[in-house]
Amino acid sequence: MELKGNELNPWKNALTQLHNTAEVIDLDKNIQKILENPAKTLITTFPVTMDDESIEVFEGYRVQHNAARGPCKGGIRYSPDVNLDEVKALASWMTYKTAVVNIPFGGAKGGVVVEPSKLSTNELKRVTRRFTYSMIGMIGPDRDIPAPDINTTPEIIAWVMDTYSMIQGYTGLGVVTGKPLEIGGSLGRLEATGRGVFIIMEDTLRQKKQSSKNVTIAIQGFGNVGSNFAKIAHEHSAKIIAITDAFGGCYNPEGLNIPELLDYVTNHHNRTVKNYPNGEPITNKELLTLNVDILAPCAIQNQITAENADKIEAKLIIEGANGPTTPIADSILNERDIVIIPDILANSGGVTVSYFEWVQSLQHFFWNEDQVNEALRKILVRAFAEVNQMKEKYNTKDFRTAAMALAVQRVARAIQLRGIFP
Ligand code: GLU
Repeated sequence: MELKGNELNPWKNALTQLHNTAEVIDLDKNIQKILENPAKTLITTFPVTMDDESIEVFEGYRVQHNAARGPCKGGIRYSPDVNLDEVKALASWMTYKTAVVNIPFGGAKGGVVVEPSKLSTNELKRVTRRFTYSMIGMIGPDRDIPAPDINTTPEIIAWVMDTYSMIQGYTGLGVVTGKPLEIGGSLGRLEATGRGVFIIMEDTLRQKKQSSKNVTIAIQGFGNVGSNFAKIAHEHSAKIIAITDAFGGCYNPEGLNIPELLDYVTNHHNRTVKNYPNGEPITNKELLTLNVDILAPCAIQNQITAENADKIEAKLIIEGANGPTTPIADSILNERDIVIIPDILANSGGVTVSYFEWVQSLQHFFWNEDQVNEALRKILVRAFAEVNQMKEKYNTKDFRTAAMALAVQRVARAIQLRGIFP
């Protein structure tokens, strides 16, 4: 077994997933070499004037993993823990995610080492504008289109768009997705990742001849993905019995009242589920090993690891987060016949509606919410079916290798068709 430090390196893990897949599909070694290396990496340190007139220097990254299938696409993450290997992994997962759902993008990701809750709104705005300026030669509607990720809201995305637009001298709606509705955002984008997690969960259950009614669910994370997944699952009569966030958790075996909990988090107590009165407290560690039908890790990477994989009791894991399960945990869970629906399929609803937003922004012609949700469902149902076909074709036990097989083959084909320049 590998050392723990290695187990928790997301880029090493992304490469392990690529290598496992390469073996199964007998990937051309030349293509493999290309995919093992991100195409472009920006490491930037930039000064920002704080409210007290002092200057802080921040570090940020933008990684473009591969653009064979179209302009690069992926979010920007604000977190004190973000690092280059994490951003490289996340960028490569975007390459594969956009390929699984077959939308015409490559993969990218960005990050700034910052704890946004410690900054004032004006400081956050200056950090965002200066980071955008650092990326200015890389991004653009035809080059690389950033979007929200952990701790980056539509408001922050609006500042990215404005900074880009001021420098270009025109309003470039297509440079970012996840914008506020008033300035070219798409209906349905905010909920899209959570909605996608639900659609994929329903489809997986349907395949097992089960319905989502009354299934018990534990959700790790109550940010954009976890909260919208909880809301939609609750509307469809699923029973969400436990939720945790970075500060605490709540548990109710009868099922949590999600609208009430959302109201509690939004309007009252520091935006956390901690101390919610109509449930018992629960820790993150306890949540992950609860006896539930479905466990949905919707927070950050490296949550299901060699340490807890043998204690997981859920029958099905749906990855709302990117990279929540390490490859070592993956093999333990596979041995134990616990089904994992991988991130590059399960959380692809967000980037899929980002694609719709980009198309609407470029055309300056906007869709209604039903159109968005219907188009999202069609794409995800097709992707799930295609992943299942791969699972059969290559006789893979797990869905991750099947989804990666579909994605890597699509990217490989694009590279082969275009050829190597010059
Ligand atoms: N950050 C999201 C993800 O990891 C969305 C990316 C996007 O919409 O471009 O999929």
